[in-house]
Amino acid sequence: MEASKRKTNTNTQSSIDEIINKIKKSINYCYNCNRCTNVCPLSHLGIFSPRNLINDLSFLSIQEAMERNNIWLCLSCGQCNTYCPMTNEKEGVNIPQLILDLRIITKEEAIEQEKVAQCETHDGIFSTIARLQADNPLPPNKLDFLNDSNLKISQSGSIAYFVGCLPILEHTLYRLNINYVNSAKTIIGLLNEGGIKPVVLNEKCCGHDILWGKADEITFKKLAEYNVELYRKAGVKTIIFGCAEGYRTWKYDYPKYIEDFEFEIVHFSEFLLENQILDNMRFPQSEEVTVTYHDPCRLGRLGGGLYDAPRKLIELLPEVKLIEMKNIREDALCCGVSAFSGCNEYTRVLRKNRIQEAIDTGAEYMLVSCPKCLSHFECYLQEPSLNHNQKERKNKIKIMDLAAFIGKLLYYS
Ligand code: SF4
Ligand code: SF4
Ligand code: SF4
Repeated sequence: MEASKRKTNTNTQSSIDEIINKIKKSINYCYNCNRCTNVCPLSHLGIFSPRNLINDLSFLSIQEAMERNNIWLCLSCGQCNTYCPMTNEKEGVNIPQLILDLRIITKEEAIEQEKVAQCETHDGIFSTIARLQADNPLPPNKLDFLNDSNLKISQSGSIAYFVGCLPILEHTLYRLNINYVNSAKTIIGLLNEGGIKPVVLNEKCCGHDILWGKADEITFKKLAEYNVELYRKAGVKTIIFGCAEGYRTWKYDYPKYIEDFEFEIVHFSEFLLENQILDNMRFPQSEEVTVTYHDPCRLGRLGGGLYDAPRKLIELLPEVKLIEMKNIREDALCCGVSAFSGCNEYTRVLRKNRIQEAIDTGAEYMLVSCPKCLSHFECYLQEPSLNHNQKERKNKIKIMDLAAFIGKLLYYS
């Protein structure tokens, strides 16, 4: 399967058989040590166990295993992979990938559709937007936020910045009152400071949620093909990301679906460090500010382990002191929602736990580099019926996107 590009005609028996063989091969590596379940945040909530799933797949039919396990609850956070002794990039047990494969082959079943519907959030608006964009030959119109700025962008060139879903989140999650586009403005502004006029295009949704949350490979591939063609036509070689999911999707998922994928994919923290863009900048900040940093799974466990660059960037900021949380890097706790799916009373506890860890550091800010993590945490703090403990938490920590935080220090936003 990995040797060739992923086929998306998932209704054909040959394609399904191929995936089933891959699943069977993968679960054969498991020796039932239970480490995955010991660290899975959902197993602590009593709603899912990866080892039970693998056990059931070993001894029962896939249909029976699906009846006993709700695979749509999995957050694809990758905690299990960190501790599974049989996980390997190419072979072995890769539980998030195994679950994605199971979702792909079972998603048409009525019983699975019911589970997908139960995990749905925001009335499915994000999947609807992705599907509408995939089927519309016209590009979306999402760059209005640049109209009133002095930021310099290009339509063609070798270095691009991927805006992603920030303008859409600003409208759809307006209740949270987060200026998502400030992150984009800051990154473009910093690139301009470094003498770079990045290519910024009206690309479509990267497709992360429609792939991981809905297992809709057909829509995903349409989005990927459109975006790749757009950047190819603009002569782009390197694409800079400020969001974790876009980074992960382009770097690790697009190459599985796109022939001759050739782009260099970098996180903005890596790019700024490598090009020493912050080195000669003057920060007006004069008083110490304390921050802690939340590792998003799509940069860390599922993003090739990008842990150091965001921290090095924070350390470069004058008067900014980084205080680490108890669980960081590959052990970072999950924000509790994945692909806008599975937000419920159980996973709400995960948001609470992570926010509490951040508060326990005594830091003034928790910085994140994923607009979705930011949304889910902020949403917890802004619940309309805050109880006393939540009100306390809300007063003790501010949550910001890393790029937007740098912009704030520089008075960009
Ligand atoms: S990816 Fe996360 S939620 Fe899913 S089984 Fe692994 S640890 Fe549990
Ligand atoms: S950690 Fe790996 S080997 Fe151990 S039970 Fe889980 S999947 Fe199997
Ligand atoms: S936590 Fe996230 S998914 Fe759940 S309602 Fe809030 S923003 Fe939506």
